[in-house]
Amino acid sequence: MTYFRKNIMAMPGYQPGEQPPLGSQVIKLNSNENPYPPSPLVLETLHQLDSELLRRYPDATAARFRQSVSQVLGVPADWLVVGNGSDDLLNILVRACVESDQRVVYPTPTYVLYRTLAQIQGVEPREVPYDERFNLPLDNLIGAEGAVTFVASPNSPSGTTTPIELLDELALHLPGILVIDEAYVDFADNHALSLTQKYDNVIVLRTLSKGYSLAGLRLGFAVANPDLIAELTKVKDSYSVDAIACVLGAAAMQDQQHKITNAERIKASRLKLAHYLEKLGFRVWPSQANFLFVQSWQNAEHLYQALKHQGVLVRYFKQPGLEDKLRISVGTDEQNAVLCQLLTKLTS
Ligand SMILES: *Cc1c(COP(=O)(O)O)cnc(C)c1O
Repeated sequence: MTYFRKNIMAMPGYQPGEQPPLGSQVIKLNSNENPYPPSPLVLETLHQLDSELLRRYPDATAARFRQSVSQVLGVPADWLVVGNGSDDLLNILVRACVESDQRVVYPTPTYVLYRTLAQIQGVEPREVPYDERFNLPLDNLIGAEGAVTFVASPNSPSGTTTPIELLDELALHLPGILVIDEAYVDFADNHALSLTQKYDNVIVLRTLSKGYSLAGLRLGFAVANPDLIAELTKVKDSYSVDAIACVLGAAAMQDQQHKITNAERIKASRLKLAHYLEKLGFRVWPSQANFLFVQSWQNAEHLYQALKHQGVLVRYFKQPGLEDKLRISVGTDEQNAVLCQLLTKLTS
């Protein structure tokens, strides 16, 4: 078949986590969704939607949502661009910034979509390995000279963070753009927003998918100086953020307490789960996200299969370096207890 560009034919395509049908009894700990429902304010707003909102095209800049974000973060609205999830913004970034002879650079293992987006663009994904404690390979990242460099902090699948001082140094020395993907920032002790003010080449990405329990809504945003935002806006589809997402996202931002309360519950559960898994003999990396990255002395793929067979989905990556590891989302204490019970049996 020759209908497609060579790079599209050659690439495997991104593999999202399994999504069992709604209502199935599966305990889903494989996609880092928040186990708690979104804010009641979001649901109230949803029930009161005016049909006029659906008849008309949405506001192309998602002004109402940007205004809420602006108030909460203390960032001017022209420092924000909104996307259909932060995946949409990652896509826009690669399309907007990378010429055909340039590189997309990122430390690995990390979010696999960065590789997929480089492959779609037909440019080289330059992968720079983390060490086994997930320290940032600063010099090698700088040396790779990316048009765009992605660093997820907290990182997936490791859950580890990169200290702000290192991101600062990276931004200072990179020839291109540094994208700091903060999808899991709501479960972390720190964030890198200040670097967007300090450097003209830094973009911070946020999403409502994890911290705000709104993965199904598809809403994310980028924070950067207005010059960067203006160029990214040219590449963005005008109506990628639908009218409902814009309004519900604004409501979610206005209920910060709901997000904070759930994040605190998840962090407490994360600590308990980590201790339990360590007692079972797993190596557990220090996590500032809503999941744990663990190494097993038993066959990890077998554990994944056995858990799935018993109705608990976790994430197994069949990739070099990850074959003996699992990524497990932190669920409710009840869900985590079921997981622990099964793992106790499976590893004894
Ligand atoms: C979940 C995730 C995203 C995607 O978030 P969406 O806003 O749902 O598209 C981006 N980056 C990382 C590292 C993630 O884990």
